[in-house]
Amino acid sequence: MPITDRSSNSKHVHIVTLGCSKNVVDSETLMGLLRRNNITLVDEAEGADAVIINTCGFIDMAKEESVNTILDAVEMKKGGEIGQLYVAGCLSERYRSDLERDIPEVDAYFGVTDFTNILRTINPNHKFDLLGERYVPPGSKSAYLKISEGCDNPCSFCAIPLMRGGHVSRSLDDILIEAQHLASEGVRELVVVGQDTTYWGKDLFGERRLAQLLTKLGEVRGIEWIRLMYAYPSRFPHNILPVIRDTPTICKYMDMPIQHVSDPVLKSMRRGLSRRTLMNLIEQIKKEVPGIALRTTLIVGYPNEGEKEFEELLEFVRFAEFDRLGVFPYSQEERTIAYDMEDPIPAEVKEERIAQIMEAQREISARKNDALVGTTQKLMVEKEVEGEYFCRSERDAPEVDGEVYITSNTLLKPGEFVEADITGSLDYDLFGEYIRHADTVSDSWEKLLPVL
Ligand code: SF4
Repeated sequence: MPITDRSSNSKHVHIVTLGCSKNVVDSETLMGLLRRNNITLVDEAEGADAVIINTCGFIDMAKEESVNTILDAVEMKKGGEIGQLYVAGCLSERYRSDLERDIPEVDAYFGVTDFTNILRTINPNHKFDLLGERYVPPGSKSAYLKISEGCDNPCSFCAIPLMRGGHVSRSLDDILIEAQHLASEGVRELVVVGQDTTYWGKDLFGERRLAQLLTKLGEVRGIEWIRLMYAYPSRFPHNILPVIRDTPTICKYMDMPIQHVSDPVLKSMRRGLSRRTLMNLIEQIKKEVPGIALRTTLIVGYPNEGEKEFEELLEFVRFAEFDRLGVFPYSQEERTIAYDMEDPIPAEVKEERIAQIMEAQREISARKNDALVGTTQKLMVEKEVEGEYFCRSERDAPEVDGEVYITSNTLLKPGEFVEADITGSLDYDLFGEYIRHADTVSDSWEKLLPVL
């Protein structure tokens, strides 16, 4: 969706966002602030007065991508294709002095939420310093909703608290206002994110209150799907389960990154729970929220993951039958607790372990998808490509999970909810045929309006 308005005399700024959903929200917040100050956002770097690269510094792969993106932009700057070049985000927060020394062509480096300083640098005469005026690209039907920043957990491998600091929950009012604003802009799906969403409220109320937050979000008119991501499993707030089960607009879906299951590895990772606790938790979630789609993330090649520990993990993947699963190679990160354990497992072994886990998961996913053939599913239309509609079900988060490709003689629009017959399956995606538009929770609100 183009966001360029070349007729304007204001400065033209292009923003590149790398990394995770939390960074997407940060970029959108920065965009909101820039637009409020009459700065024009442009789709292309070429010709922009300034380019801002919002980097990721999570693991080696992400750092490499961030550095390469900066270097490409430096070349553009040298060639006169762009004006100023700024770098923000996690990589810049973590390695600012190294970057300033090694890539001096960048005009300025900023930390993770240095929005006001970025604005001051781009436009010293700016009028508004307000934060939180987030800009979501026009036409967006799905948006991330960040409920907290930072993390208080002590995971030994993780550099995120070094970059983002300790956990800070956003206030309930703040979150609800943003959710209502997004709904009024046409967003139909909120994807709830934070480094550890289950921790929400602990710093505000002395106890975790995610259940209360989800209940309130479930009342936001116009929102049809609310999806919970990054639910850390230790000290899991069990009272969210009935809320997920009983609130019509909360997806029967949860992303819960477990990282590993072998006790020695979990202990060294300082994850605060054991294999047994994890198994019980997964069992309880499935029991209390029948049909829930569970997504998880794993790390292989952690320093004390021997063959035995890896086999245990692989066996667990086969047993637990997650609906969605991602797996990353361990990355040794400076200043983390695990750093001193070195990185003894060779890259090829990590890759082989990833391949084994993904093969096991592919079989599980293919089997689960096959079982959906012949059923009717409620889907959200995302886009149309050459006569085919790309949709997602309640069981699929945007960007990381599968798609459902459907055919339809009726013209469908992004953000509409439809029912479709599932007619075929691939390992991760499905095919279907449109039957009719689906009833939505918003429809039932509309029907209730005259009565209220
Ligand atoms: S929960 Fe652990 S892995 Fe996740 S951000 Fe916090 S410290 Fe990192």
